[in-house]
Order: sequence, then C-alpha cells, then structure tokens
Amino acid sequence: MSVVLIIDDSITIRQGIKIALKKASLFDDYLEAREGREALDRARSTQVDLILCDVVMPEMDGFQFLEELKKIETYRDTPVIMLTGQESVEKKIRGLELGASDYLIKPFDSGELIARVKVQLKIKQLQDDLREANERYRTLSLTDYLTGLYNRRHFMDMLQQEYSRCRRHNAVMSLLIADVDHFKSINDRLGHLKGDEVLSRAALVLKDNLRGHDTVARFGGEEFSILLPMTNGEEAAAVADKLRRKIESELKSVEGLNGVTASFGVAAFPSPGLETLEHLINAADKAMYRAKEMGRNRVVLYAGGDPPAFSEV
Ligand code: GH3
Ligand code: MG
Ligand code: MG
Repeated sequence: MSVVLIIDDSITIRQGIKIALKKASLFDDYLEAREGREALDRARSTQVDLILCDVVMPEMDGFQFLEELKKIETYRDTPVIMLTGQESVEKKIRGLELGASDYLIKPFDSGELIARVKVQLKIKQLQDDLREANERYRTLSLTDYLTGLYNRRHFMDMLQQEYSRCRRHNAVMSLLIADVDHFKSINDRLGHLKGDEVLSRAALVLKDNLRGHDTVARFGGEEFSILLPMTNGEEAAAVADKLRRKIESELKSVEGLNGVTASFGVAAFPSPGLETLEHLINAADKAMYRAKEMGRNRVVLYAGGDPPAFSEV
C-alpha cells in the first residue's frame, strides 16, 4: 500500500493536489497536514512513500519540517517535493540542499504534478531495488551456497579480527577444524548428491550446537572451521567432543551408511610456540590430521612445546 502526505496550509491546494493524484491512481492512501508539526506526527504514525510540502506555513515551515524529517531513519530516502512560489529561487535551492528531491512552482499544472511525482516514485523504486540487490550480493559473498555457513574468506576475516583483539587484550580464543571421515567413500558409494546432503546436515548440527558468539564456516570441501572466542584449549576440546558426538548420533540414519563421523583438531591462543595466526591455523590442522592418524572420529588438542605435543581428548 502506498501513502502520500500532502502538507499545505491552504485546504484548496491540498484538495487540488489530492484530486489530481487520485485521477492518476498513484496512491492508496492520502494523508494531509496544515503545517510541519502536524505533518511530522502523521509521518511518525504512518510510514509515507512520498511527501508534497509547502514552504511558507504557520507554526513549522517547510524547511524546518524537512530538517526534522531527515533525522528520522526511515525517511532518509523518501522523496519530498517542495511547493514554492514563483519568486523564490533561493527557497528552491535551500529546499534541495536540505534534502528535497524536487520542487513545483505554484500555481502548478496537474499534468506536471503527476509527471514529477511519477519520476520521484521511479527513482525511489530503483534505489530500493539497488539496496536489496546489494544486500543479496553481500550475503552471497559471505556464505557458502551448499551449507549456508560462512565461507572461508569471511571466516578468515573474523578469525583475523578476533586474533588481533586477543593480542591487544591478552584474551584467549580457540580454533577448531573438523573434517568428515572417509568422505570420499561416501561420495563413491552413494553419489555426490548424497555427499552434499551429508555436508549440509553436518553443517546444521554444528550450527545448532554452538553458542551465539561462536562462528562456524565451511573451510573447504568437507572441512569445517569453528572460532570460539574467550575459550581456552580444554574448554574448546570439550566443545569439539560434544560436536563430534552430535555428528555421530545425528547422522547415523543416513541411508546406506553405518554412520558419518568427523575428526577434530583444536588449537588455542595463546599456546606455547604459537606466534602468529598462521601458526594457530597450522596447529589446529596438524591436530586434526593427528586425530585421523589415531583412528578418526576423535578430538586432538595441540598442546604446544618443541617439538609440539598433541593430546587426545
Ligand atoms: P579422511 O577420513 O582421511 O578425511 O578421508 P576423506 O575421504 O574424507 O578425505 P579426502 O580428502 O581424500 O576426500 C575428501 C573428498 O571430499 C574429496 C572430494 O571429492 C570431496 N568433496 C569436496 N567438496 C565436496 C562437495 O562440495 N560435495 C561433495 N559431495 N563432495 C565434496
Ligand atoms: Mg579433507
Ligand atoms: Mg575427510
């Protein structure tokens, strides 16, 4: 439903505008106000799509109204057409500078009124479409299409941020890397589509069993990465083991399989021997491979030292 607000202290002008707009069937609802303050009340209680506003009015004039209106978040891009007298070039300029979209000189022709309103509605529509498209692209650029999780690139950005924060504030964080066991044979036996489904379901299990400020992403093919802020190695290993058990129990029912399991590597910052973010990622990765070597479906924690030690959870 589209709504127009007509602001003018002359009832004759308001009526004239209303009749012209109604003839063109441009709006579903027509609100009126005699001056700025009343118009602000109207605009606050009903979201309006386009505003026609006189300049000289008692109490609050058109410029003050415009200034107040643009402070309201939901009216930042709403088209406002100012209604000015013949003489006032400065007023036109001032209105445009304050954020008006266009102006009409009184007395105006109803054909011109309609044409100018249509142009403003079209610009607004294009703006809205553009914003929506940008939001869609942003979401696409951050997420993995198959699982809906964040993608590796976005995860790396978040990991970098959290790592810098930890360094600055002497805080702790942990990184988990999970890799589905024998995934190649799942693909080989049941087909790629079933493999995809396994990945989606595993992603859902991870997402559903983490806390709000944890971040889970698809790190690569059948690899997931999880960032746990403010979590030390022992706590992170416990989280990993919970996730491991959840994957095992919730993916038992995949047709044609005895069950899907995953191996987890855990590394915490700070830990002895970890000087950079790359070290942290490598440590979690090495711990994950150690879990594979030890028989899969288990959690291994990087314990630091030289040569580095790993401990099974
Ligand atoms: P391991 O237990 O040692 O991890 O064995 P694995 O078979 O899981 O490990 P490997 O790295 O040999 O195989 C991973 C397979 O994952 C190979 C690749 O074809 C498959 N894969 C990667 N991305 C996708 C995907 O998006 N969908 C499907 N269905 N398969 C994928
Ligand atoms: Mg792998
Ligand atoms: Mg694997």
